[in-house]
Amino acid sequence: MTKHIRTILFILGLTIIPLMIYGYLQLQSLNEDEQMAQSIYEKQMETVLFSLNQYADDVMGQWARKLGNTAASIEDNAGDLVLRNESIQVLHIQGVGIAVDTLLFGEYVVPDLAVEQAIKEWKGSHDSTLNRLEQYFEAGFQKIQGVDKWQQLKQLQGKQTPLTFMVYDADSIMYNIFVILQTRYWVDQILGAKIQALAVDELNVAVLSNRLGEAPILSSANFNVEKTYTSADLWIFEGLKIAIQSIGENYSELVKERSKNNLLFLIFTLLVLLIGVGIIIRNIQNAMKVAQLKSDFVSNVSHEIRTPLALIKMYAETLMLGRLSSDSRRMEYYEVIYHESGRLTHLVNNILDFSRIEANKMTYDFLALELDKQIEAIFHSYEYTFKEKTVRCHLKLNAAGVMINGDHQALNEAIANLIENAIKYKRDDKEGIEITVTTEMKNKEVLCHITDNGVGISKIEYDKIFDRFYRIESALTQQTKGTGMGLSLVKHIMLAHNGSVTVQSKLNTGSTFSLVFPIIDNK
Ligand code: ADP
Repeated sequence: MTKHIRTILFILGLTIIPLMIYGYLQLQSLNEDEQMAQSIYEKQMETVLFSLNQYADDVMGQWARKLGNTAASIEDNAGDLVLRNESIQVLHIQGVGIAVDTLLFGEYVVPDLAVEQAIKEWKGSHDSTLNRLEQYFEAGFQKIQGVDKWQQLKQLQGKQTPLTFMVYDADSIMYNIFVILQTRYWVDQILGAKIQALAVDELNVAVLSNRLGEAPILSSANFNVEKTYTSADLWIFEGLKIAIQSIGENYSELVKERSKNNLLFLIFTLLVLLIGVGIIIRNIQNAMKVAQLKSDFVSNVSHEIRTPLALIKMYAETLMLGRLSSDSRRMEYYEVIYHESGRLTHLVNNILDFSRIEANKMTYDFLALELDKQIEAIFHSYEYTFKEKTVRCHLKLNAAGVMINGDHQALNEAIANLIENAIKYKRDDKEGIEITVTTEMKNKEVLCHITDNGVGISKIEYDKIFDRFYRIESALTQQTKGTGMGLSLVKHIMLAHNGSVTVQSKLNTGSTFSLVFPIIDNK
């Protein structure tokens, strides 16, 4: 048994453990692949967003340069800019250090002084921001400053986004520019074309409000805010962000999908392998069991042959030496020799039939037989044995004239095997052996029961005892000689007769083996 366990553990170790390790490593690497794919994807998206932000900044830079065009006055430049850009609602020019200011309104905006008031108020409360912008500008750095905390004015249209920056005019006077844009126009006109250019087949680019739940302000296709996307704040606009997502599955999702499929495949392979290993282990166990049974069988057969041979030899020697004076004694010795050689014949027949069955070469010679007569003949042939072993035997034949299709020799073997077993597996008590052979008719079948008062068989063994070489592992059976072939032969013979063999038994009480034959329908 320990050898079995060692073999099983060896096979398990050899197949399952490396596969498990491989599976684990594979999983690990899939995870890394996925992370890498995700990070590459994120970087690509961020690059696209960066270029969009850069573009928006450039456009505003161009506006600033246009305002500072030295070929015309700053007011003219501003008028031209407002005219050409619908998104500008208000443009306020204020000289730095000089009291010059101009307020321009877009064509569709009704001029209102409240607007100028609001701009001045904002500036008044943001001195430090404006001073910083001046310093930057003097240092040669053009910064477009988003305006924070801007109260949306009801005099203006839609959502307003104010920006402020510095420019020089032709006389190198510094001006502060305060421009209020109509957000949606600006996004449409300035970013629209660029977004369409960036959004190739697989990408969807959009401008979103930072406020949750708002529909996209602009998008290249139907942007789905429920799906994952990468986003970045729009540098120059407070409260807006640009976002990008892939249409359909993105690369990292594909990698994830692939990882999932690989994992499923791995689990499936592992399962198949486990089943395979299970089957191999079972086969090995069976093969080992059969090998063990075969080796037991050889020693059992040798044992069984030795006893009758020794008896025959001894009785024949005594006869040959002429030591027996009376004829009746001599007759007794002849009978022993006759019956012991009968036992040998039975054993050899069993072995021959068994090997024929194993080689699939067992043939039957079927004839119409009267079962009762057949059983009566076998029963009588056992009279000597019954007497010798003081067996109380009963024959109850209730199927006179019932014919079956049977092989005379094979039936003798089957019934003899059952009677031999009934004698062999007796209980060790004073009661003695009692065997009853009964026949009866039931429906279209005729049954033959062989009942004994022996050791009995437990229920879990009912099926196994008909397997080849199988012998019950109990102290009682171990004391009794046997090969484990008898009942497997009986089963084979009964199947060949289109019949069956069953057993009913109770431990320490006795067993009944029943043979069931279909009867020949005379009609
Ligand atoms: P064996 O050569 O061992 O008798 P069999 O195939 O005839 O082989 O029987 C298989 C096993 O079934 C026996 O080893 C025995 O344990 C059990 N068996 C068979 N017949 C009887 C019986 N009448 N009473 C109790 N046990 C039996």
